[in-house]
Amino acid sequence: MAPFSLDLDDDQRQLQAWVHDFAEQVVRPVAHEWDEREETPWPVIEQAAEVGLYSLDFVANAFADPTGLLIPVVMEEMCWGDAGIALSLFGTTLGVSGIMASGTPKQVAEWLPRCFRDERDKVAVAAFAVSEADAGSDVSALRTRAVHDEATDEWVLDGTKTWITNGGIAGVHVIVASVDPSLGSRGHASFVVPPGTPGLSQGRKFKKMGIRASHTAEVVLDGCRVPGHCLLGGQERLDEKLGRAREGRSSGRRQAAMATFEASRPSIGAQAVGIARAAYEHALAYAGTRHQFGRAIVENQAIAFKLADMKVAIDAARLLVWRAAWMSRQGAGFPNGEGSMSKLFAAETAVKVTDEAIQILGGAGYVRDEPVERWHRDAKIYTIFEGTSEIQRLIIARAISGLHIS
Ligand SMILES: Cc1cc2nc3c(=O)[nH]c(=O)nc-3n(C[C@H](O)[C@H](O)[C@H](O)COP(=O)(O)OP(=O)(O)OC[C@H]3O[C@@H](n4cnc5c(N)ncnc54)[C@H](O)[C@@H]3O)c2cc1C
Repeated sequence: MAPFSLDLDDDQRQLQAWVHDFAEQVVRPVAHEWDEREETPWPVIEQAAEVGLYSLDFVANAFADPTGLLIPVVMEEMCWGDAGIALSLFGTTLGVSGIMASGTPKQVAEWLPRCFRDERDKVAVAAFAVSEADAGSDVSALRTRAVHDEATDEWVLDGTKTWITNGGIAGVHVIVASVDPSLGSRGHASFVVPPGTPGLSQGRKFKKMGIRASHTAEVVLDGCRVPGHCLLGGQERLDEKLGRAREGRSSGRRQAAMATFEASRPSIGAQAVGIARAAYEHALAYAGTRHQFGRAIVENQAIAFKLADMKVAIDAARLLVWRAAWMSRQGAGFPNGEGSMSKLFAAETAVKVTDEAIQILGGAGYVRDEPVERWHRDAKIYTIFEGTSEIQRLIIARAISGLHIS
């Protein structure tokens, strides 16, 4: 087990500085433009791929870091640059995590590279699709069906996914569907839908409040046929799982979709920390240079105390994120919902800190030429996706009480 330390080692620090440079030199200068365009910033993704920041190797190395801290460090720096652009790149890691959570080693080897590059070696993104119109927080209610066609050994997927990051523009889509609706979430299975598969199409694309450079859309599955080997984990494992569920036996394992979201919570928290830090730094600098009543506004306690509270909350959020990331990497699980604690606190901190930053900038914080209003819009999603703040509280409450709080 790697010891927990708040001191990044030389390699980690070097990587942090490298990602920060990319965020500062490449991402920040175009953040406003892509937010206004509300489109996937393919040129930035390509640039990230060129320098090696967007690749399977990079993500695999970051995940392999024995301390678990590299992923949150990278996420924080990129979202300090811009969360919408960062999500357009790292939305892919959700698809990657979905494959890692359920796939066999052969499937992992086959599909992970395809999440980043298509068959012609062009940059690609991946998507992980669970949510549906009637299955948001309540994943067990999902209606998308997967039916096995014995004659052709294909799975036929039907249903509509909603709110999917990179939905419809992804090469690889990982789809969670029900193979036995009578079993609720225990009847779910995950499928890879290879690029270009007929029957998968993009539905409505959403116009959002924030993270507008990140594409969010419906994914429509209409008689979408995938080969049997696209069932993640394989038929034998699915049959065993369904058998156990029908007999009311526990597998001792979390459902794959839940496991995917749980493992990714500290990195989502780290993204929120990045936005909060950007807003805090901007407000601190502004408060030192903006003069009213003959002195810098930071010389008023009312402003200085806001900045003090912002700094405390950001550092506390990062500590929770790093602890959870370290625990997750050590395979220690989250006995008290530590992953949820990190995501909950970091998300709510980002909303609060960006709100206070607007207040400190006054009118200059409220206009779209300044980045602070964008950071506030971007921060809000963190209390909603990957489990709302209420759901995080539910998970923590259940973990600490041992009761099924509802
Ligand atoms: C920009 C964006 C990107 C997304 N990307 C993806 C993606 O890539 N893949 C994917 O599968 N999904 C994605 N989602 C979906 C996201 O995970 C859901 O929006 C989220 O889980 C909440 O579901 P919902 O929107 O249906 O809200 P609901 O579940 O309807 O919740 C509405 C409100 O009720 C509260 N609530 C619900 N149940 C309870 C309860 N038991 N106790 C207390 N309060 C409760 C919620 O906290 C919330 O405040 C994305 C969403 C957005 C907006």
